[in-house]
Amino acid sequence: MTSPLRVPVVVEAPQHSGLTTPLDYLSEHPLTPGTLLRVPLGRREVLGIAWRPGAQLDGQALDAGALRPVAAVFEALPPLPPAWLALAEFAAAYYQRSVGELALSVLPPELRKLDATALANRQARLLKRLQRDAPASEGPLPERPTLADEQQRALAAFEAALAEPRPQPLLLHGVTGSGKTEVYLRATEQVLAAGRQALVLVPEINLTPQLESRFAARFPGRRLVAMHSGLTPAQRLSHWLTALLGHADIVLGTRLSVFAPLPRLGLIVVDEEHDPSYKQQEGARYSARDLAVYRGHLERVPVLLGSATPSLESWQRALQGRYRRLEMAQRVGGGVLPQVRLFDMGVLPREKSGHGPLFAPPVLQSLRERIARGEQSLVFLNRRGYAPVLHCADCGWKSGCPHCSAWRVFHKGERTLRCHHCGFTERVPRACPECGNLDIAPIGRGTEKLEEQLAELLPEARIARLDADTARGKGQLESRLAEVHAGAVDVLVGTQMVTKGHDFRRITLVVAVNPDSALFASDFRAPERLFALLMQAAGRAGRDAEAAARSEMWVQTWHPQHALYAALKAHDFAAFASSQLAERRSAGLPPFSHLALLRAEARDAAVATAFLRAAAECATQLDGAGDVMVYPPVPPSVSKVANIERMQMLIESGSRARLQRWLADWLPRLHQLRAQHKGLARWAIDVDPLSI
Ligand code: ADP
Ligand code: ZN
Ligand code: ZN
Repeated sequence: MTSPLRVPVVVEAPQHSGLTTPLDYLSEHPLTPGTLLRVPLGRREVLGIAWRPGAQLDGQALDAGALRPVAAVFEALPPLPPAWLALAEFAAAYYQRSVGELALSVLPPELRKLDATALANRQARLLKRLQRDAPASEGPLPERPTLADEQQRALAAFEAALAEPRPQPLLLHGVTGSGKTEVYLRATEQVLAAGRQALVLVPEINLTPQLESRFAARFPGRRLVAMHSGLTPAQRLSHWLTALLGHADIVLGTRLSVFAPLPRLGLIVVDEEHDPSYKQQEGARYSARDLAVYRGHLERVPVLLGSATPSLESWQRALQGRYRRLEMAQRVGGGVLPQVRLFDMGVLPREKSGHGPLFAPPVLQSLRERIARGEQSLVFLNRRGYAPVLHCADCGWKSGCPHCSAWRVFHKGERTLRCHHCGFTERVPRACPECGNLDIAPIGRGTEKLEEQLAELLPEARIARLDADTARGKGQLESRLAEVHAGAVDVLVGTQMVTKGHDFRRITLVVAVNPDSALFASDFRAPERLFALLMQAAGRAGRDAEAAARSEMWVQTWHPQHALYAALKAHDFAAFASSQLAERRSAGLPPFSHLALLRAEARDAAVATAFLRAAAECATQLDGAGDVMVYPPVPPSVSKVANIERMQMLIESGSRARLQRWLADWLPRLHQLRAQHKGLARWAIDVDPLSI
């Protein structure tokens, strides 16, 4: 009898459980790292992954004690590829999570429920189905447009990268409508022809159907699978298996798909690479964009990052020569970007209410002209609901949320006051709950009120609203978009949801009602986001070459002199980026420094603060304490949500590597420290936080 072998296995264990390293189990047979299996853990049996022996993982090893045997091995399944394991290991270390927590959290949840036999059956059924429904590989290739010069050059740069042993990431900076997607398609064509797989990331699930249909139409002989949160658990598993088994030629999905197992990966595309949705906002708070770049580096494949308004992080890397920058400044087919016009709201007389009018007269005039000509307009305001707060002028009552440090939003259509943070909803009161005054009034406006007011101002117009409230039901977003495309809508009102991706042909006017607040927000990334949003909104107009000449975007502002608007007027991303980067450099902000945020939550803010203070205190004892700066704890902008108080503490360093080393030393101490802070509900570290 041969003696059983020791196999390191990672299981799903949150970092605070202390199980930060793989656990050792016994197996009769050697197991390839990446093999999925089931192992006993306490009294349960859980899904695990055989890991690489001796992998450099942080944390203390558990007492080896009496090792238990592996319960079952998923033998029918190929092991996860080595590059996948390396990616998971890197992501866990970088975002300061245990490997098990990270690796298991990005696998299809359905895997946990299946035993080896059930999975083998699923797999056999899937393979049969894949054989039966094999895409038709015969037939003429669909027609492809002749590339414009700029596209040609971008593709040539991609081809050059493809030929390199260690390709550099490519930053495709192309204005909306410059044909970036066509470049992705051509790049994909090349890697598919070489027998490789392509991974295409999109920021939002809403944007997957259109891209999916473009890829499917272009590659009828290839198999494409989608990966996003809209799939059923069974679909998610079968798409994941299709990828792992090497039967998917193209995987297209949201941030989670950066972890799609692809044995023959040849290309990663990250569309709208600047989009904040690429950052996971819970658990291991990874950035799928950044992990895509790392994965490209690991697997030595080109990464194509595309955007009309790249993130300043990526832009700076391109300036440093770490990414290769490809420019596409022209719209294909002769479309031009709309003329951006600023209206100085300060010149308008105030109305009785103390508020300015909703629309400046020339803006209203522009809307009327569009309606008369049968063209479409898009009006956006980044606030949903009817009004952000109700107010009693007699006693000063406001519609605060009893559970959060936030106002409850007035939704007129559904007659409710609803908290957008915790969801607490009540019928809107008839009278002031404090003093009985019947005259309680909304302050400010959201998209619902905007829609109502537009209907009064433009009685002849067909108006549709698109925001998280009207797009909630299944298929509602699609049906609304279809109405717009069919020309059944004159004015589309909405939040930033209307500005993203959709290729509206007939829009010749875009109005930003009141975008100023972001200019002075405390978050240092607010201007970058605003600029991207406005450029993206502008990009919705003038996509049709004929109408392009008379397309325009109106920005109603109280700060027409602001540099951001000047750059917007000139459609000059480079100018905006260089002024922002100069500010960031002098303030020591990213990309010129590296940040992490320690968050703590408790019913009592003092408990959260005490934990953060103690964490800061123990930080001073670490090696390399001089390399990092720990700021005092502060509340985030909404400090209480669902009766839990939140506090956060910023950590900054000039060196990413030193910050990483330092965090890795600090984290185990925080796990210990937690035991001394009883009332603490949660704590978590966020590396490269997006909003601070
Ligand atoms: P972007 O992704 O940069 O916004 P798209 O790739 O969506 O731009 O291109 C905009 C439109 O132009 C699409 O309808 C696309 O089919 C079309 N298009 C792209 N490249 C070409 C080309 N070389 N010739 C003709 N039409 C093109
Ligand atoms: Zn009152
Ligand atoms: Zn609330």
